[in-house]
Amino acid sequence: MDSGIYIRKCILEKSGYIPGKSITEIQNESGLKNIARLALNENPLRTSSKAIEAMIEEIKRNSCRYPDSICKELIAKLARKHKVNENQIYVDNGGDAVITKFGLTFFNPDDEIISADITFPDYEDISKEMGAKFVKVPLNHQGYFDLSAVLAKVTQKTKCIFICNPNNPTGSITPEKDILEFLDKVPQTSLVFLDEAYIDFIDKDKQVDYVRFLSKYENLVIMRTFSKVMGLASVRCGYCIAHQEIINMIMRTREPFSVNSVAQAGAVAALDDMDFYNRTIENNKTARNYFYNEFDKMGLKYYESQTNFVCVDIQSDSINVANEMLHDGVVVRPLASQGMPNCLRITFGLPDENTRAIVSLRKALKNM
Ligand SMILES: *Cc1c(COP(=O)(O)O)cnc(C)c1O
Repeated sequence: MDSGIYIRKCILEKSGYIPGKSITEIQNESGLKNIARLALNENPLRTSSKAIEAMIEEIKRNSCRYPDSICKELIAKLARKHKVNENQIYVDNGGDAVITKFGLTFFNPDDEIISADITFPDYEDISKEMGAKFVKVPLNHQGYFDLSAVLAKVTQKTKCIFICNPNNPTGSITPEKDILEFLDKVPQTSLVFLDEAYIDFIDKDKQVDYVRFLSKYENLVIMRTFSKVMGLASVRCGYCIAHQEIINMIMRTREPFSVNSVAQAGAVAALDDMDFYNRTIENNKTARNYFYNEFDKMGLKYYESQTNFVCVDIQSDSINVANEMLHDGVVVRPLASQGMPNCLRITFGLPDENTRAIVSLRKALKNM
């Protein structure tokens, strides 16, 4: 078939998301039952038991019903948590969907969208899908956004700057001073989308609550997700906080029932489970120390991580190494497709998963 007859040109020019192998496939290929998947920044402690109970109850009671269209209970709870008005929050089917609806609402074919060269791929995807121009500015050597270089690229056509903070896949954070200076200088005609998917993993003394700057910077949009620290990746729930007019505009593109009721129930319950939250953060710190130590012993360089993963330079072809590690049932993310051919992104797991990853990595590197 000649797809060119049907497809929009900007869609023809891009490819779709290529998923890694499923756990079942890896089990079959490696012959191992127990797979350590450290490739998708999932929560190794799995999911809050409170959230699971609430979700089971919701499935039993309301599977035949359409979900609450406007996520009233969840939004009320998030508004209290972030000390904002309920009309400043937009919830969708994962952070991914929030980014998509945001782009659908604001990006025109003539617009320029700016982000880093090595960052979360969603930003480039939605920009291209809308036919907008995506401008990439190199990360600095510490792996975070070089915001003065970004500012130099801002023109009258710049509709949006995506800042991933901490950045995926490097794990680095941009200093508060840089971000506030940037927000001061960037023209009001450009929106600033701050992706905080990993904010909870940042060391307490480095955490900044940018939500409190929303009243000062009306062009700021802050995104969060339940997929990472809350361990709810499968049910899909994410949100953004912004000026109420921005939220109103995004609401025009939303689907009537995009957030399923199981996700809503799980998210509401997860917000109360501080025990699960704290254990997640604790485990993450322990894992980070472990990997740092092991990498130091191996003489491998890595970026300082403020997330639930680490980006390590293995000085070999990352695809080959990741494929070797699959034989041991350890799944990690090679960053070749993201412009870092010698780097792996490894999600922090449980202690035994982390040990397995290091043993497997050592073995794989020996064979290179
Ligand atoms: C995981 C992630 C998201 C959103 O994930 P969802 O599962 O769609 O909520 C957004 N941004 C970054 C940088 C991420 O790593």
